[in-house]
Amino acid sequence: MNEPSLLSISGVYRSFSAGEQQLTVLTDIDLDIKRGEMVAIVGASGSGKSTLMNILGCLDKPSKGQYFINGQDTSTMDVDQLATLRREYFGFIFQRYHLLGDLDAVGNVEMPAIYAGKDKKQRSERAKNLLSRLGLSDRLDHKPNQLSGGQQQRVSVARALMNGGDVILADEPTGALDSHSGKEMMKLLQELHQDGHTIILVTHDMDVAHFADRIIELKDGVIIRDVVNAQPTAQKTLAQERTPITTWLNYDRYIEAFKMALIAMLSHRLRTFLTMLGIIIGIASVVSVVALGEGSQQSVLENISAMGTNTIDVRSGSGFGDRRSAKVRTLTAQDSEALKVLPYVDSVTPSIKSSGTIRYGNQAVSASFNGVGIDYFRVRGYQLAQGQYWDETSETEMAQEVVIDNNTRKSLFPDRSAIGEVIFLDDLPVRIIGITQAKESAFGNSDSLEVWIPYTTLSARMVGQKYLDDITVRINQSAPSSAAEQGIISLLKMRHGTEDFFTINTDTIRQSIEKTTQTMTLLISAIAVISLIVGGIGVMNIMLVSVTERTREIGVRMAVGARQGDILRQFLIEAVLVCLCGGAFGIGLAYLIGQIFAFSGGSFQMIYSTSSIVAAFACSTLIGIVFGYLPARNAAQLDPVDALSRE
Ligand code: ADP
Ligand code: MG
Repeated sequence: MNEPSLLSISGVYRSFSAGEQQLTVLTDIDLDIKRGEMVAIVGASGSGKSTLMNILGCLDKPSKGQYFINGQDTSTMDVDQLATLRREYFGFIFQRYHLLGDLDAVGNVEMPAIYAGKDKKQRSERAKNLLSRLGLSDRLDHKPNQLSGGQQQRVSVARALMNGGDVILADEPTGALDSHSGKEMMKLLQELHQDGHTIILVTHDMDVAHFADRIIELKDGVIIRDVVNAQPTAQKTLAQERTPITTWLNYDRYIEAFKMALIAMLSHRLRTFLTMLGIIIGIASVVSVVALGEGSQQSVLENISAMGTNTIDVRSGSGFGDRRSAKVRTLTAQDSEALKVLPYVDSVTPSIKSSGTIRYGNQAVSASFNGVGIDYFRVRGYQLAQGQYWDETSETEMAQEVVIDNNTRKSLFPDRSAIGEVIFLDDLPVRIIGITQAKESAFGNSDSLEVWIPYTTLSARMVGQKYLDDITVRINQSAPSSAAEQGIISLLKMRHGTEDFFTINTDTIRQSIEKTTQTMTLLISAIAVISLIVGGIGVMNIMLVSVTERTREIGVRMAVGARQGDILRQFLIEAVLVCLCGGAFGIGLAYLIGQIFAFSGGSFQMIYSTSSIVAAFACSTLIGIVFGYLPARNAAQLDPVDALSRE
């Protein structure tokens, strides 16, 4: 008896609080088990056998007393150190097998090695070898529900042996088996005993107990008998299969957790999809709203820049929609001349608008007639394709000269030069002296025909109107546009004596549009964020349900040596994965919305910015972490014994 005990328990008590009372299940247990023994713990139901077994297997801790494994005191160890002991020394066999239904035989057997950090090829080879050795070589990829009870129990034996299984703890291993399979199982345990494994067996059946060398009987938590049937025969010592951790590649843990998350998600597809729905809708709405805002803003800004850059329009009346503005006839060419003198003014053009028919030969088309000043083309940023503009003398002499746009040229002179030709604007003959380059028109129709004629000509020879419809001022690039606008207003107010005109500043319009879209985007994004949070709560809810549903699985994982961190990681990755998939689907949905929008003839395109997509992914990851943490932590903090006993 000089060999030190492998497992040594002294003065151990275990009590549970049941309501107000303390229920003492184990009382002052002393027990030594040597390496290579085969021990049966027997006793009536409720005598504390399983409780003792759980303490021996480090699944549970004694309330009082000490437990040494190979000389190491377990009372000072934390949960992860106990998990390490379970991985290194113990292999559990349960009455109800406790295999994971989502994994096949190999997957179940491999599990302890994953937590021990064995490399992938090694562990799958070993799992297959073990299963073949136990006569399951043709059942490697069967799921537990495709196996008989005896086969499932053999898979669980293989799992117990996976990390070496120096000590095999079997709690009623034959309890759920028919007598034939039960006998086979006992023979198998005896063989393992012969191979040098220490076997501790819990049973209420004396026939089963007689397979062991030593029988310990428990009654009401006290050892009442401890008989050695047979001296341990000279056995082989167990080849140390417990290879020290070879490759503890960190990413391997993540890959395994990732795989498990995928399996869990795929086995509850509908539920996973419904969980994602909140995230999908949230992400899709954020991304689409941002894209819509960006697209509409861009299109409006394009239109504004087509109106000319840095321009301020002066019109009669008090604003758009003022019905009396037509009667206000105070805007004159002299106002235009006066504005030219202001220091920050680059150029000014008066304008009178009319419309009518252009005739050439036997063709007639309707067009807009624009009576403008010579600076008009500079103010509006037009370029000439051919010919030239009129000059100051043309303006004073009310010359009958016009510049036409490309549309007019195309419709009247499709196949020859228009320069020098004479056309009729209503009844007035005019000569074409220039053709502008095609330009995207501002608001509205870009097929409209436009001709430009000196405003003096239009005023005197055609419409007989002395006042102007509007004056457009181009501001120096460097001048602040709002100050310039104020300057123009005060000058005209002084000249008119009253403010019977209003100004349109493209710069101000641009700024206010940008601001409005920003505000709108912010507002709708806030709503979308709320929907994301609601989605996140949905994820949390389902994850909590999932943890409850999979409590037994968590217990099994802990029994085979998973650390708290492993469990936490698995559930967290699952939550993040659900959210990320939701995010990806959400972005897909947003693109689909964009396609539908474009197809349904929206006046502009949705513009997807990379930053909003990156933000969407970051957001969904964050939601996964934030809302997945609580359920994952709950899972990780489960008590292994509790978890295993849950149905
Ligand atoms: P056996 O395996 O010998 O049938 P157990 O060790 O499972 O018995 O249980 C012994 C006693 O301890 C039983 O009366 C049982 O009700 C009680 N018990 C076991 N686990 C708990 C627990 N977690 N909380 C309260 N009582 C428990
Ligand atoms: Mg029991």
